[in-house]
Amino acid sequence: KVVTRFAPSPTGFLHIGGARTALFNWLYARHTGGDFLLRIEDTDRARSTQPAIDAILDSMSWLGLDWDGETVYQFARATRHAEVANELLAAGNAYKCYATPEELTALRESQKAAKQPMRYDGRWRDRAPEDAPEGAPFVVRIKAPKDGATTIDDKVQGPVTVQNAELDDFVLLRSDGTPTYMLAVVVDDHDMGVTHVIRGDDHLNNAFRQLAVIRGMGWEEPVYAHIPLIHGTDGAKLSKRHGAVGVDSYRDELGILPEALGNYLLRLGWGHGDDEVISRDQAIEWFDLPGVGKSPSRFDLKKLENLNGQYIREADDARLADLVAGKLDPAPSQAQHDLLVRAMPSLKPRAANLNELAAATAFLFAVRPLPIDPAAADLITGSAPAILATAHSALDALDGWDTEKLEDAVRHVAEQSGVKLGQVAQPLRVALTGKKTSPGIFDVLVLLGREESLARIADHMN
Ligand code: GLU
Repeated sequence: KVVTRFAPSPTGFLHIGGARTALFNWLYARHTGGDFLLRIEDTDRARSTQPAIDAILDSMSWLGLDWDGETVYQFARATRHAEVANELLAAGNAYKCYATPEELTALRESQKAAKQPMRYDGRWRDRAPEDAPEGAPFVVRIKAPKDGATTIDDKVQGPVTVQNAELDDFVLLRSDGTPTYMLAVVVDDHDMGVTHVIRGDDHLNNAFRQLAVIRGMGWEEPVYAHIPLIHGTDGAKLSKRHGAVGVDSYRDELGILPEALGNYLLRLGWGHGDDEVISRDQAIEWFDLPGVGKSPSRFDLKKLENLNGQYIREADDARLADLVAGKLDPAPSQAQHDLLVRAMPSLKPRAANLNELAAATAFLFAVRPLPIDPAAADLITGSAPAILATAHSALDALDGWDTEKLEDAVRHVAEQSGVKLGQVAQPLRVALTGKKTSPGIFDVLVLLGREESLARIADHMN
């Protein structure tokens, strides 16, 4: 049975790169009928915070990435990590190193001066236990392989080989007995039964070191899939300077729907032919590791918004109204909320994000006299007031207020005044919404209702 995991370090919000890693792990587990586990790597006590943990869990739920079993907290497992280090010691696959910090600094400096790679030289690797200075502090180091090479048959990168001479005897337990991250990851993956490690390719180098621990323990090796990082449109690794990087800001500030972000992240680095819009169910059916590309993908907000617009058009009206209501200040009354729901079919075809959708609702709740957008001001001058007066009496005379009757009446006004339909519709639009663009004018009239529509038109007649 396949077991994948997502292992974020809770030092900040969920980064969209992390979200994509989580998504790929989740999809692979769901595709194979396996389990998707969550481990919070909170061993860095100074930088790990509860708000960060909450933000990560919240973003995952928002993206619909549910995990199986209990959340594992790495720090709580320190005793178990130390136990494994001691097993490695007992088996002769790790050793105690008594090198002092001063000694190690001197070593690094001489390597640096000689332009050699800076790495621990194994000075305690083969020392006899009797040499150990009594009571002196020590760290526990892995006995990494020295000869030959190690190859990882990575499912995304292909076979990757490293000369073992390049691997150092890294620290497993610090002198205060606490485990290092490198040890903790391996022990946790093993104990959680992880079969597939899918993560950012910034961890590929770590995989070779982690293998040394796995082999030292004689444990089964997981399948590795190191996925390329996300870059910005300029080709540099995605960072804050490219704009929003936290999943929460896509939701709260950019007004993106979770299914749109999920779809976009899926397509960023994984492909299924030319398909752009891919539902969750299709993704579960189709997702596989060979479809993951090898080169970094570029994050493009325009493409995300384009996809978001498509999802907004398909989204349920009541749900959209709720989301938009959350962005309105003051919060809408029940009657206004009902109006929002009714307005969604005319508003949603034009919005790329929920902020645009919320802004487009402004005319519904505007108070007379409406503020007129300067760009629209000259559309209600000249002949417009007279046309609006004709329209007003025609609409006032109607005995119903539905799209069909309104359309007939407005067409009639245009004929009567000898102008094109647009010359009636544009001044009407500005009088009713204060703007040059809005949903279809007949939809606007219906949404505002007879009384409010007539009053808004009357404000601009002569
Ligand atoms: N905690 C690591 C990170 O957030 C992930 C480690 C792993 O996936 O093995 O980058």
